[in-house]
Amino acid sequence: MNGNGLTILPVGGGGDFAPGTASNMSLPIKLISTDFDGTLFAEFENPPIPERLVSLIGDLQARGAKWVINTGRDMSSLMEVLARARIRIQPDFLVLVEREIYQHDGVRYVPVPDWNAACARDHAALFAEVRPEVASLMDWVNARYRATVYEDAYSPFCLIAGNNGEADLIHARMNEFCARFPHLTVVRNDVYARFSHANYNKGSALARLSQMMDVTRTEVFAAGDHLNDLPMLKSEYASRLAAPHNAVPEVKAAVARQRGFVSRLTCGNGVAEGLEYHLNGH
Ligand SMILES: [Mg+2]
Repeated sequence: MNGNGLTILPVGGGGDFAPGTASNMSLPIKLISTDFDGTLFAEFENPPIPERLVSLIGDLQARGAKWVINTGRDMSSLMEVLARARIRIQPDFLVLVEREIYQHDGVRYVPVPDWNAACARDHAALFAEVRPEVASLMDWVNARYRATVYEDAYSPFCLIAGNNGEADLIHARMNEFCARFPHLTVVRNDVYARFSHANYNKGSALARLSQMMDVTRTEVFAAGDHLNDLPMLKSEYASRLAAPHNAVPEVKAAVARQRGFVSRLTCGNGVAEGLEYHLNGH
């Protein structure tokens, strides 16, 4: 145990790490990118974020690594659920709505201004083109499914489907719609989906963060469980990948194909196992 009660783990595989060293020189992972729901956080578990994972991330942060929660949630919904989880660690960065980047300045989370401004500008221009066509897509959905479709601050078309099977069918229709608009794409997470600009996703945001931190992809760990995580579960952005047992088959396959770690444990326990795997020199 070190001074703050966290367990220091041997890392680097070569035994070159001296416990208690503040330096991150030997740290194989300098940026940890975790999805939130179903990856870090299990709503019906107690605690919802396991101590094993909190300790691991806390140790890495104490030694200079940075942690980003890379989620589809917006600020208020993430802050509320994080506060309720009452964990003793705090993310250094947030990627919200799968596209906006925020950095903790010691007091609060502040936007990364140039990225977020470009993101807002590009979405506004694209959605201005798309918006007039959206009503027909909403009609198509409403005529066939008991689903909720709406516009919110982040997208002119948002979907909450009745179940994943119907979400798959509506998703396919949304993909057809996207073919008419360069840069328009679907972000899908379970029964939820929305339109977004193809240049902004969990992966491009992670690449931007890596650039800001001056870390290479081999120093980046990423873990996720659903389709909206696929853009960041790419070895071009993070060569240390992990998926928990509850991840959808597409995510497990993508992680396995890129020599990542697919855990037999669910949610945060699976992510902890994945982090340990990569810290132990794999
Ligand atoms: Mg998730």
